[in-house]
Amino acid sequence: MFDLTGQVAIVTGGNGGIGLGMACGLAKAGARVIVAARNADKSNAAVADLKALGSDALAFFTDVTDERSVDDLARRVQDECGRLDILVNNAGINVRGPAQDLQVEQWHQVLDTNLTSAFLCARAVYPHMKRAGAGKIINIGSMLSIFGAGYAPAYGASKGGIVQLTKSLAVAWAGDNIQVNAVLPGWVDTDLTREARGAVPGLHERVLARSPAGRWGVPADFEGIAAFLASRASNFITGAVIPVDGGYSSLA
Ligand code: NAP
Repeated sequence: MFDLTGQVAIVTGGNGGIGLGMACGLAKAGARVIVAARNADKSNAAVADLKALGSDALAFFTDVTDERSVDDLARRVQDECGRLDILVNNAGINVRGPAQDLQVEQWHQVLDTNLTSAFLCARAVYPHMKRAGAGKIINIGSMLSIFGAGYAPAYGASKGGIVQLTKSLAVAWAGDNIQVNAVLPGWVDTDLTREARGAVPGLHERVLARSPAGRWGVPADFEGIAAFLASRASNFITGAVIPVDGGYSSLA
């Protein structure tokens, strides 16, 4: 039911953090993983990790903010791997600061990387999935898809948008047998949040105090949800928004 043998998955930002965690889950279930990111050293190291798990993984340089780069990615995967079954829209950045100080360039940078990218990647894979008669798209939101944070207005807007993009695409493409779902990670120990913990005093302790699970998440916590949402076990689940947060969003 969870077997992905022979299937091909693109993971944007799959060279580290949550993306690599999801890529490992897909690889363990049998998928061939394509790491789509910019940093070649990190991508090559991720490919080595995925190969060690038995996946015939590849790294394709991709800038998800660049429409042509995204279209090339989908075309290359289809041409070189012969199929394209799964897309994980994981690439993301944050620019922290009060709304009144945010430059419009920073706003666009965050929206382009976190939200417009998911639209571009989904649009690029759609014709291949439609032709194949099946597909799985997994979008990555955040706790800031639900809650507001005064220091991250652009990030919050992008992650709120991810939820509505997920629901719109789920409805639009259900008839093509393409399921589109969103995962909302809680607070996870990655490069992104290591930077945040340095910049936001007390963040580490506040997260621990509020988390029913009593710990920060780790990238491996995302292996299972990736395999589940990519597999036929989830064929009647579409438009769902699933927190993977140790209970963080359930606490009153
Ligand atoms: P991370 O380790 O910093 O990973 C971010 C990834 O995005 C990197 O692999 C980076 O690769 C890639 N990326 C950034 N800009 C890109 C671009 N223009 N084109 C292609 N790839 C790009 O952070 P993370 O915490 O794992 O975050 C992954 C996702 O989870 C993000 O969407 C983030 O918003 C979300 N999230 C994280 C947390 C958390 O607590 N960590 C919580 C909620 C949501 P390159 O630099 O090599 O391109």
